[in-house]
Amino acid sequence: MNRKKTRRKKRASSRKKLAKGVCIECGKPGKGHAVLDDYVIDGIRWVKRKLNIEKKNALIVCEECFEKYEKRRKSFERSLIIYSGVGVLLGVLLLVINPSLGSLLSASILLLFLLILAHLKYAPKVKK
Ligand SMILES: [Zn+2]
Repeated sequence: MNRKKTRRKKRASSRKKLAKGVCIECGKPGKGHAVLDDYVIDGIRWVKRKLNIEKKNALIVCEECFEKYEKRRKSFERSLIIYSGVGVLLGVLLLVINPSLGSLLSASILLLFLLILAHLKYAPKVKK
């Protein structure tokens, strides 16, 4: 009997890959979901390196904080969409009312300001 190779079972992927590091929510060292680097984290690292206070800790979100973190992340994503949407809308409105270089400048500053505001709720992405 020539059986096909169907025996190759998929490895049970129910076990999550956990990384070691310091939790960004509770600040405790442990295991959890690895935080993905982005422009904010790179920026913070850069500043810390310049100030010589870089700790070189890997960042994670531990299991206990994960639920809390997910809520924070969702609220950050939502505010980012809303703030940039409002910024673009107001900017376009400003340019329609008064199409000038000044309006373009004001619109850009407004958008930048709103984007910074949205980052008050900043929460990084994690590997899942
Ligand atoms: Zn935690």
